[in-house]
Amino acid sequence: MLKELIDKFYLDQQKSREQVHFYITDAGKCPRAVFFKFKNAPRKKMDARILRIFEKGEYLHRNIFNILYRLRIGITTEIKIPAQEIVSGRADAILCIDNQNYVLDIKSMNSMIFKNLIEPKEENIYQLQLYLHFFEIKKGILLYIDKDKQDIKEFIIEYDPNLAKSLLKDFEELKKKIEADIVPKRFDGWPDNWQCQYCQFREICSMADGGEMNWKEFKDKIESIQIKE
Ligand code: SF4
Repeated sequence: MLKELIDKFYLDQQKSREQVHFYITDAGKCPRAVFFKFKNAPRKKMDARILRIFEKGEYLHRNIFNILYRLRIGITTEIKIPAQEIVSGRADAILCIDNQNYVLDIKSMNSMIFKNLIEPKEENIYQLQLYLHFFEIKKGILLYIDKDKQDIKEFIIEYDPNLAKSLLKDFEELKKKIEADIVPKRFDGWPDNWQCQYCQFREICSMADGGEMNWKEFKDKIESIQIKE
């Protein structure tokens, strides 16, 4: 009874609307999945339990922000990147430690993933590189928190201008495909890649071929299957 009401509360928060610009968190993500978000393609809703896990991660962020202020090293928190045309995003914090500025990005995860984390995740490095690029800061910190045991690991990342430029170029290329209604090819590693395992577009992706295709024709195909069902 109460569980159903709580679950419904979380499920009702899910907005399904067209994405209109890239977010920094899209860096390193499957281009086809990002394309589908822009087109508001049919997606599997996340279950209430996953939404509660995300919310718990946000509480942990707030807790770290509080500590940064008390340590007097947090210059600012939840700061938007400067406005420009291609991408928007909000860094967790900009810190100053021993006269050196850092962009901080906090990630939380369960104990099992945390235990096996011996180097920063590639997609997290990509996101941090873009924050470093737009804030013109040379160093960043990826701070990983074990949600279950409250353990912490950190990795210092140096700004890599070539990597940042190549990520922005990828966004530019995907933007052209979105405007031209060309669905990008499947992500390498489909279907076993972790992104595919958690992808909300997995069902429609498997209805298509692996290569590029016309979005309007594919959309008609999805709608005709949905009508028959
Ligand atoms: S299932 Fe995999 S390849 Fe297909 S859209 Fe999702 S992440 Fe991309």
